[in-house]
Amino acid sequence: MSSTATLETLLRDPSLNKPLRDIAEKVAQQQRITPEEGVMLFEDAELAYLGILANYIREQKQGDNTYFNRNFHIEPTNLCVYTCKFCSYSRLIKQRHEGWEYTMEDMLDIVYKYDGEPVTEVHIVGGVLPSTMCLFMWNCSKKLKHTAPNCTSRHSLQWSITTSSKKPN
Ligand code: SF4
Repeated sequence: MSSTATLETLLRDPSLNKPLRDIAEKVAQQQRITPEEGVMLFEDAELAYLGILANYIREQKQGDNTYFNRNFHIEPTNLCVYTCKFCSYSRLIKQRHEGWEYTMEDMLDIVYKYDGEPVTEVHIVGGVLPSTMCLFMWNCSKKLKHTAPNCTSRHSLQWSITTSSKKPN
């Protein structure tokens, strides 16, 4: 069934409440939803409903194409100032002896292992160390770009936020 037909089926569903129906109709008419409607989706919408809307928009923009990214990960350190409950691998700075910290050369050695491979992204994710990471990642990005010019380098969001929003220790 096409995404258009699926969305039409959703709109005919008598059990769909009015606020969610209004949003679905907006999506069908390719209108933007408001921030308040976005919050409503976050709080009230079921996953299958969201999937129908998202797939409809995706096919409107991309047709039936799906794109994949070939990447590999580097985790420069597992030392972290945070203690997220779901995290199984981080260590606090006072536990430094149990953790690891790559140097720039360590990271470039990992990149060299993929030389000749059809990689399009170096995905860098790891613990948050605001005192060192901002400058380190800046230099790292420059070196990776030079070493693997066909790759983008993507850093974990929490690094970007933390390193730009906190003063170094
Ligand atoms: S910020 Fe990342 S590395 Fe640090 S504790 Fe949370 S999940 Fe683990």
